[in-house]
Amino acid sequence: MKRIYRTYEDTEVSVLSTQVKCPYCGEEWLEEDKDECGKTYILTCDDEFDDGCGKQFEMSFDAS
Ligand SMILES: [Zn+2]
Repeated sequence: MKRIYRTYEDTEVSVLSTQVKCPYCGEEWLEEDKDECGKTYILTCDDEFDDGCGKQFEMSFDAS
């Protein structure tokens, strides 16, 4: 079996994280894979692990 070698120099960021902010309580966190242009995402302000309020809100992602 052949083997390849990679180092940290071969890595790149494959997941783009989007910084979001809850419009209700102002809690901020990072969402991964929520970067499709023109799409509206339903996010929940997490109150299980963070200090979020548990409310849902929409986030629309645009390139501009
Ligand atoms: Zn919130």
